[in-house]
Amino acid sequence: MRILVIGGVAGGASVAARARRLDEKSEVIMFEKGPNVSFSNCCLPFHLSGIIEDSDSLVLMDPHEFATKYNIEARVNQEVIAIHPDKKTIKVKNLETGEVYEEKYDKLALSPGANALMPESIEGTNGDNVFIVKNVVDIKKLQGYIVEKDVKEVAVVGGGFIGVEVCENLMKAGKKVHLIQSNNQIMSPLDFDMAQILHKELYDHGCDLHLEERISAIKTGQVILESGKQVKADAVVMAIGVTPETKLAKECGIEIGETGGILVNHNYQTNYPDIYAVGDAIEVTHKLTNEKTRLAMAGPAQRQARAAADHMFGRLHNNKGIIGSCCIHLFDLNIASTGLNVKDCERLGINYDIAYTIPGDKVGLMPKANPLFFKLIYEVPTGKILGAQGVGKGAVDKRVDTIATMISMNGTLEDLKELELCYSPYYGTAKDVVNHTALVALNVMHNEFKQVRVDEVRELVQKDAFIIDVREKHEWDKGHVVNAKHIAMSEFRQRLSEIPKDRPVYIYCRSSQRSYNVVRALQTLGYDKVYNIAGSFLGICTYEYYLDQVTDRKKIVTDYNFS
Ligand SMILES: Cc1cc2nc3c(=O)[nH]c(=O)nc-3n(C[C@H](O)[C@H](O)[C@H](O)COP(=O)(O)OP(=O)(O)OC[C@H]3O[C@@H](n4cnc5c(N)ncnc54)[C@H](O)[C@@H]3O)c2cc1C
Repeated sequence: MRILVIGGVAGGASVAARARRLDEKSEVIMFEKGPNVSFSNCCLPFHLSGIIEDSDSLVLMDPHEFATKYNIEARVNQEVIAIHPDKKTIKVKNLETGEVYEEKYDKLALSPGANALMPESIEGTNGDNVFIVKNVVDIKKLQGYIVEKDVKEVAVVGGGFIGVEVCENLMKAGKKVHLIQSNNQIMSPLDFDMAQILHKELYDHGCDLHLEERISAIKTGQVILESGKQVKADAVVMAIGVTPETKLAKECGIEIGETGGILVNHNYQTNYPDIYAVGDAIEVTHKLTNEKTRLAMAGPAQRQARAAADHMFGRLHNNKGIIGSCCIHLFDLNIASTGLNVKDCERLGINYDIAYTIPGDKVGLMPKANPLFFKLIYEVPTGKILGAQGVGKGAVDKRVDTIATMISMNGTLEDLKELELCYSPYYGTAKDVVNHTALVALNVMHNEFKQVRVDEVRELVQKDAFIIDVREKHEWDKGHVVNAKHIAMSEFRQRLSEIPKDRPVYIYCRSSQRSYNVVRALQTLGYDKVYNIAGSFLGICTYEYYLDQVTDRKKIVTDYNFS
């Protein structure tokens, strides 16, 4: 069999390698228009900080290695300019010589990726000071410019994965960075409340975050925002999203899906059965919603590539769709999310609820034990797990990956509660973050107690609601909600007369464990209007902090306490 592959990176190289593993006799040729195949897109931003010192090391395998180790012909600087499904040929342009030639295929796989968006409506995007980060050539160009021009300030436009990673790595390299984001939060897979923790991290590290701002022009030395604000910038990195590369596909009659990605069936075949497509260029189906969507992530691209190659050789594959698991690092934080977020549930009209907890990521006595902010989203009343988001200094990815696994296997809160996970004080707690959060969720779903979210507290304060702080005096003294009453957990049984039964009472502690116990106790004593503030003081402080710093609104805490 003669297998041709368009695109030589995540999806393309994986199709080629899998095809070779399935059949030693097939001829496998990979066409890549750039000078490199098999490079690590995901590691590109880390060259800016020097975490990856040598940009050449970003290229994982060269054509010579592909040929000698795998008998795969990797042709670089070769752009495929047309596909002829009727003749089963492709037309290729050698970008070094200008020569154009045709190649015949039995099976063809497209993995041409996606292109960085660069709106023409923004003046100056074609300037020498404007960059994207998509491949090794791009990162060398950006880094070269930074060094040559002694760049001190950079505007990064777009607060998605690439923008945030570029921002962090430039800041680690000592640059002043302005991160410009069009809506009110960075990292759209997270809900607004969780994103506040990231905004705090950026703010505390000196990033100039411009939310709800769009750029209108890029000039020498500055960018102009639609609000009229001028931001100093010696260089600009555009990271406002990607659009699937579908030109070749469209021109040869390959169908495009409703989201603009290449339409494929569950075997990654296009409407031409001998032409497959995988990776950032295709449209995928969301496992939880059955919606068509797009997902520019390396893991799915590799899985799709393997499945496509398998199908070429008659092997079947169980395509379960995507759930959108992802993680990112930001200074001292690890951040991960999977499945649906609250915004998705609202948009789709799903009956959902959340459990928000901040347990320790390991036993508190151990070195480097830290709180882990964890949000679990589930369907009501089935308890089906829909999504999770985690932020913390420790092993966030492992917790969110556990939830991703549960979602993939249609798990419920009951399953999660019973999940037996490994434990040693080095790595977690006997009741792991995910087990703990499932218990909280089950309690809420079964109306064992009532809760309010951290994003509801400001309104409660403004309404002068009855809020009790049950932490001990030394904790209260370091900062508390402005109009809260202090009745420590160790005293509340003696001070019940101070707690009203005829109006709602909202209770918080540091991270909701003590307040939950007080809520349960009061309930058994006949209080039926008591609410636990999910996330408690730690959650309130992290949620409120960033907007308190950058707006002139009134604080609802006397002082913050993040420990
Ligand atoms: C900076 C950055 C960081 C990232 N970080 C992460 C991460 O941490 N985690 C994660 O899961 N994902 C990450 N991604 C996304 C991930 O890299 C992509 O989802 C993945 O590479 C997609 O694989 P692909 O094969 O579809 O496209 P690509 O890997 O982009 O490969 C497409 C290739 O096709 C070539 N091509 C296009 N058209 C033609 C043509 N006509 N002829 C010949 N060649 C052609 C292109 O030159 C390109 O090299 C990151 C991406 C970037 C850019």
